[in-house]
Amino acid sequence: MNNTWYDDTVYSKFKGKHELKNNRKCDVLIVGGGLAGLSLLYNLKKNNVDAVLIEEKQIGSGASGRNGGFCLSGWAQDYDVLMKYLSKEEIVTLEQIAATGVQWMKKKCMSKGYEHTNLKPGVLKCFLSKNVEKVERDVFTQNQLFSQNEEFINKGKLNEYVCSDKYTCGVLRKDSFQFHPLNFMKALAQDCKNLGASIFENCKFVSYQINSGKIKSSIFNNNGVVNIQSEKIVFATGGYGGKEIKDLKNFWLPIKTFIGVTKPMGNELQSVLKKPLGFSDNRRAGNYYRVLPGNRLSWGRGISAVGKFTSLSLKRAISKEISYFFPELRNVEIDYVWSGNMAYASHYMPYVGSTKIGNEEKNVFTLMGFGGHGMNTAPGSAMVLADFMLGKSSKHEVFNRFRRKWNGGLIGPYIAEMKYKYLQIQDYFDVA
Ligand SMILES: Cc1cc2nc3c(=O)[nH]c(=O)nc-3n(C[C@H](O)[C@H](O)[C@H](O)COP(=O)(O)OP(=O)(O)OC[C@H]3O[C@@H](n4cnc5c(N)ncnc54)[C@H](O)[C@@H]3O)c2cc1C
Repeated sequence: MNNTWYDDTVYSKFKGKHELKNNRKCDVLIVGGGLAGLSLLYNLKKNNVDAVLIEEKQIGSGASGRNGGFCLSGWAQDYDVLMKYLSKEEIVTLEQIAATGVQWMKKKCMSKGYEHTNLKPGVLKCFLSKNVEKVERDVFTQNQLFSQNEEFINKGKLNEYVCSDKYTCGVLRKDSFQFHPLNFMKALAQDCKNLGASIFENCKFVSYQINSGKIKSSIFNNNGVVNIQSEKIVFATGGYGGKEIKDLKNFWLPIKTFIGVTKPMGNELQSVLKKPLGFSDNRRAGNYYRVLPGNRLSWGRGISAVGKFTSLSLKRAISKEISYFFPELRNVEIDYVWSGNMAYASHYMPYVGSTKIGNEEKNVFTLMGFGGHGMNTAPGSAMVLADFMLGKSSKHEVFNRFRRKWNGGLIGPYIAEMKYKYLQIQDYFDVA
């Protein structure tokens, strides 16, 4: 289940270094070669910081290189929930961080070296909800509050974009876009290398100790275990970190989500998806889909904290969902299926800043927990963390509003699964 369509269409030949020598020194050690770690590396190198990144596998082999390829505005948590707990200023700061992330990603996708990211503008969020007036009202409020560029689409007009009798209305997110995430990751890694950054692949971070303010990390690589000494360390291990990140592991859960890609299709695909947009639906773990080069349909679905899935069961589930929304496509065959891990805290917001586990750990930082919405929020948050580490700003303090909450230990995944089932029931009753 590991071979993705992105792996088979990746353009770049980027390779990180493999031979990490013992007793290497650096200012900042970044653990994790996903979008969070890599965009932090980029921002630190731009400011001449001696930062080194290590990745257990290859750049982009975690969620960042295997996701739905949507770069959207906002956060994994909805603004109408955040508005209940945060001040207007805090909400605006969060929106700025998320929006900066989208703009940065878009600018990168359109620059030299990123040609194969294949950016296509516009994502249409389709609603199954009965409460169409609320959707229209929310678009108006958010456009006013955040100067967003979203357009409410009523059911009549929706047919010009997507033909499914399941949807009641839509919201066109004009600033959002779709792209090839793995090609993006490789291009960004190359960009970092061009700035003189050292990126080590196949290097697993194992443990660290702090002595007289210096952080000594043990890394497992081709040469066995080697040490690296740094002033600071940042954990950007997404939903893949284990006990090596110490107590941090107890404050989020790895949640899986799934993608299938169909065999190439004919015109029947364009008869239901009439515009070359990304599409998603409004359910908490709804579907997100788009047409890939070669006229294949990429179909994202579901979340699970405990379930085990075979390729066959996933293919069946995906075919069933496609036929539910688009009966015309019921005979389509699924070519690829894969899953990936996302890191979710119970409040759905990330941990960005000092980890604050024990007094001595002020130079130990966290940049993780972006859930299913990391393609804008991870780079936006990385910029804020880089600014803090460079002593330029303390905007990251807004993240302190989201306190670390215990993940429930061994029963945490079962509680998360029940919560998801409950949300599914709520979605069921909200369908028109
Ligand atoms: C199937 C799927 C679809 C998704 N779709 C979307 C989407 O369309 N839009 C969107 O915005 N978000 C989407 N997401 C979420 C998004 O991909 C994540 O939020 C984002 O990639 C998180 O980036 P990250 O850098 O924190 O984590 P990752 O990309 O997972 O990177 C973490 C890295 O750390 C490495 N690592 C872990 N432990 C160690 C260690 N001990 N030593 C060294 N390295 C280590 C891992 O190997 C991994 O490469 C999706 C996620 C999945 C799984």
